[in-house]
Amino acid sequence: MNRAPAVTMRLRVDPVACEGVGLCAQVADRVIELDRWGYPLVAGELGPDQVKAARRAVRACPRRALWLEEVGGDRG
Ligand code: SF4
Repeated sequence: MNRAPAVTMRLRVDPVACEGVGLCAQVADRVIELDRWGYPLVAGELGPDQVKAARRAVRACPRRALWLEEVGGDRG
């Protein structure tokens, strides 16, 4: 049986849309840290156990400033 290769995901943030209030970090504190100004630090690939929390953060963002993408992928 062939299995599809695991897809690696990462979070991206639109720095223009983000207001830096930090709601994303409140709902996904093990995935997102905030910088000293309250903006999310989302660099790095997500482990399989982190993707669920990352999706929660994407849904919680009131500015739609967060999204998930495949590593090597594009937003469009
Ligand atoms: S919830 Fe959205 S707007 Fe607020 S800090 Fe996170 S990415 Fe920025």
